[in-house]
Amino acid sequence: MPSFPKSTVLGYPRIGPRRELKRALESYWDGRSSRAELDRTGAELRERTWRRLAELGLEGLPSNTFSLYDHVLDTAVLLGAVPARYRDADDPYFAMARGTEGLAPLRMTKWFDTNYHYIVPEIGPDTAFKLDAAKPLAEVREARALGFETRPVVVGPVTFLLLAGALDRLDDVLGCYEELLSLLAAEGVAWVQLDEPALVADRTGDELAAVRSAYERLGGLGRRPGLFVASYFGDLGEALPVLAGTPVEAIGVDLVRGGVPGADLTGKTVVAGVVSGRDVWRTSPERALAALGAVRASEVVVSTSCSLLHVPYDVAAEPALEPSLRDRLAFAEQKVAELVALSRAGFHESPAADPSVALPGPVAQEERSPYAVRAAAQAGHLRLPLLPTTTIGSFPQTGELRAARAAVAAGTLSQADYERRVEGEIERAIRVQERLGLDVLVHGEPERNDMVQYFAEHLDGFAVTANGWVQSYGSRCTRPPILHGDVGRPEPITVRWATYAQSLTDKPVKGMLTGPVTIVAWSFVRDDLPLRDVVFQVADAIREEVRDLEAAGASIIQVDEPALRELLPLRRGAQGDYLEWAVAAYRRATSGAGDRTQIHTHLCYSDAGEILTAIDGLDADVTTIESARSGARILGAVGAFERGLGPGVYDIHSPRVPGAEEVEDLLRRTVRALPAERVWVNPDCGLKTRTYEQVEASLANVVAATRKVRAEL
Ligand code: GLN
Ligand code: ZN
Repeated sequence: MPSFPKSTVLGYPRIGPRRELKRALESYWDGRSSRAELDRTGAELRERTWRRLAELGLEGLPSNTFSLYDHVLDTAVLLGAVPARYRDADDPYFAMARGTEGLAPLRMTKWFDTNYHYIVPEIGPDTAFKLDAAKPLAEVREARALGFETRPVVVGPVTFLLLAGALDRLDDVLGCYEELLSLLAAEGVAWVQLDEPALVADRTGDELAAVRSAYERLGGLGRRPGLFVASYFGDLGEALPVLAGTPVEAIGVDLVRGGVPGADLTGKTVVAGVVSGRDVWRTSPERALAALGAVRASEVVVSTSCSLLHVPYDVAAEPALEPSLRDRLAFAEQKVAELVALSRAGFHESPAADPSVALPGPVAQEERSPYAVRAAAQAGHLRLPLLPTTTIGSFPQTGELRAARAAVAAGTLSQADYERRVEGEIERAIRVQERLGLDVLVHGEPERNDMVQYFAEHLDGFAVTANGWVQSYGSRCTRPPILHGDVGRPEPITVRWATYAQSLTDKPVKGMLTGPVTIVAWSFVRDDLPLRDVVFQVADAIREEVRDLEAAGASIIQVDEPALRELLPLRRGAQGDYLEWAVAAYRRATSGAGDRTQIHTHLCYSDAGEILTAIDGLDADVTTIESARSGARILGAVGAFERGLGPGVYDIHSPRVPGAEEVEDLLRRTVRALPAERVWVNPDCGLKTRTYEQVEASLANVVAATRKVRAEL
């Protein structure tokens, strides 16, 4: 086996430094450009990445980390796991990802504890796996034509099947992986990377046995590339000795989130993730060198803790940041430079840094009155019909509005003119909702570029970037703010818009805020304070905003917490503590509201089943939750809730307009499962990525369906 290159990354951003892929995808989807043009953009981005990594001095270049939509979907295609109903679509790949006329997309959910979303493979007992290695082979050849030897990266068989809930199909997919390894060997590929992040979560004995048999079988293959099994997002724990006992040549460990393996791994190459792929801070060379020196293995390779997919491209694209903050930052390019420097430094055995942290003390909990008291106060005051209809907050964000924001930033549009435009959008959203006959209205969030960034821009302690985009799903990116100092709220943030919206209508308009856990989860966070303390600082700022909204007359305030599940530690042992403080922070943010004020919360892709008690613990009067894509599962899980509940009636991530009958069916099923007095009717999530045309058609059907089902009650 050739030796492993001295430095590498597990993966790299692929959306493009100026979001070139996003533009190319959206133009292709809108029919403004051809598939060939889209593929050309992809090829340019891959070439740029390989060249840049090589220029920076990185030795081990990965390939197949590029994706037109999602690398898990790519793996499903690689293994032939394309459900029959998509095969005849014009473009089956994007049909699976986004749906097409009359065909819903596959389910999407969060990639471990990140804000990246992957497409959940759909695997049934009759899925006939069949290798289609076109993409990884093409990328190897494409790189070679440019003069680069690469290491193809593929999601490993155990993680792939665990994500699909189909580990019983292991034997079948292993046949495809064997075939892939043979093809890559014939192509002259020296190493292949199989990603197995699922191994850093608690695994049963059977699952560990599956790991053993999978890698014994792949390792036993006659002619194959070197096998590098990468783990990330935590500690391998019991899976490490299992992997170490198989013939794989290299094992990747996350030394930022996990500890230096205690075991002697002589005979293996350890790909040591010492440069964090999950934050934007520069690496401490002392800590990294100490960790590298403490690894006992035949070879130690300097690497990132996970793919750099989760960080922006380049600090150099941020000239406006405070120099003192810039000096502390490292994005993907800077992290690669760090890796190269570390790999050249030479490291020796020395004790690893002591990771112990002081545990924070308990937090005083403030309480609202019991739910029954609040519900009575709210009912008398709000006078809503049975099955009240509402939406999750945002209305379509028009291009003009984004252009207007850019113009304010460029100094070509005055703040006053901009605010008039925002008011115009609010008025438009309110009129549409009144015409449609919704019961609880929203102002539509036109003033917000993003539900987290908007608050970050108005709170002390945060910096925002100009180009720090990170892929969230498909063509969607966010620019996570950088939380670098103590958080404070110098003045009210949303009150002005909420008051304006309410002045236009007699229907209640919900105040709309983002919760403390989500603001922190979707930011890059200072690492010199326990996360919990940072979340409580944000909670205090939101608490002040809740009080001000209430004082300004808001009778309903929604505090979104879609990222509650996201920060859940992957190991069960650490989950209870997290959920306790996360829930306490939410209650801290919302418990300043009086009994008459109805608090709503919204969660999406939260896999409610897993954190049900915590969601219940938020004590919100109404919880709206993603449900259309996960179907009956969520309904069963949240059925035990004793407060208001709005399981989403249609998926807003797809342009498809739900039929009235389809919504009626869903509502009938919902009122059979839950007491009708508690049911709310709403879409799955905010509407900002949709067009007014789609929104009006969809909501008209939702209102019509609600009226019909209401009449049956
Ligand atoms: N209120 C937000 C919106 O409607 C919620 C978005 C989310 O849950 N991700 O856009
Ligand atoms: Zn949502």
